[in-house]
Amino acid sequence: MSEQKGMLDWYFKSSLLMRILIGLVAGAVVGIVLGYGDPATSKAFVTNTSFFGDLFIRLLKMIIVPVILFSLIAGSASIAPSRLGRVGIKIIAFYMITSAISVAIGLIFAHLFSPGEGMNLVGSADAKAAARVPPKVIDVLLNIVPTNPAESLAKGDVLPIIFFAMLFGLSISFLKDAKDETLVKGAEILHNVVNAAAETMYKIVNWIMQYAPIGVFFLIAKVFAEQGPRAFGPLLIITLCAYLAYIVLILLGYGGFLAAYRLSFVKFMKGANEAMITAFVTRSSSGTLPVTMRVSEEKLGVPRSIGAFTLPLGATINMNGTAIYLGICAMFIGNAVGHPLTIDQQMVVVLTATLAAIGTAGVPGAGAIMLVMVLESIGLKLETGTAIAVGYAMILGIDALLDMGRTCLNVTGDMVCTAIVAKTEGELDESKWAEL
Ligand code: ASP
Repeated sequence: MSEQKGMLDWYFKSSLLMRILIGLVAGAVVGIVLGYGDPATSKAFVTNTSFFGDLFIRLLKMIIVPVILFSLIAGSASIAPSRLGRVGIKIIAFYMITSAISVAIGLIFAHLFSPGEGMNLVGSADAKAAARVPPKVIDVLLNIVPTNPAESLAKGDVLPIIFFAMLFGLSISFLKDAKDETLVKGAEILHNVVNAAAETMYKIVNWIMQYAPIGVFFLIAKVFAEQGPRAFGPLLIITLCAYLAYIVLILLGYGGFLAAYRLSFVKFMKGANEAMITAFVTRSSSGTLPVTMRVSEEKLGVPRSIGAFTLPLGATINMNGTAIYLGICAMFIGNAVGHPLTIDQQMVVVLTATLAAIGTAGVPGAGAIMLVMVLESIGLKLETGTAIAVGYAMILGIDALLDMGRTCLNVTGDMVCTAIVAKTEGELDESKWAEL
């Protein structure tokens, strides 16, 4: 018994980041070996072990709604309504600017690498256009207002939850200024209760992360076993192009933004890495949200009154990595079917990809659906059997690999913008950065 305790001690006392990284690298190695080996073995491994990866995703999903709900009620109960408006405008401006910069970076890299050039894809009857219809912007806007908050909570629809939780929190903050003593007392108790509930949820997130290394190992092994060999083949250029563009956005884009606001990029990375890795392996900004919110508050010193609002919003509307991906893939398909995009078409791509990124859900593979909308906006219609469908199918083949990087950036972008907005509000606890 004592020996077993010792073994677990080793696990729990070593650095979480180290453990997750070991899981990541080991998972990739195992996955690549499996991917190049006997397909039957690889398939058997994936089916028999999917439980462990799925468990991690389920645990994260379990905690998303309670984390958003309690943190956001608690956060907006402690912010003055006028400040909330200002923070809202600032964060949306930052999200839009970083998205547009991201698409531009994607297009620049696509010019440098010319992925798909000379491929001369032709249509084939069995190329399946696995596209779903992307949502309309107006519907997305209208759906922010829930018709039944309980239903939104049950379904885990983030935007309506944000809307309702903010109203809830704001009304608590108004009640705290009421004339009636009893109401004031009640509102204060309510505020304390939701605050404590939010803390409790973060505690659970902490526990879930203890399982992360194991979940990460199996999730990554699966992706590489299933997709790895394909991405190292003819699609290597597009994978490389996307990942180089991702790295440039992180180093120059985010590094530059942070430096402009006198925040250390290195410290930011140290504080944010847990969320970045979780995003990388889960391929879901929404799924990562509990971790994003916890590290932003605990490590990057973002106050709950700001992060609880900007981060769930970012996980829904700010997708910088997806924006890069959309730019690169549109260029790839244009090149591959022998119709390289004109400058005008590229301008349209910047606009539609920025909007498409806003409409992309923070779930695995959602960006690939938005790609259809971007392609349509430049006249590349996705119809079964066409060369465009073949190109699109090729992208889908490696989508999981591209999705890992773009989701990591999507989440990183939310944290960068949030830290900067908190700093401009004079609310960033920089003493936390000093400890990193
Ligand atoms: N998986 C991405 C995310 O959750 C969205 C996408 O597919 O682009 O942020």
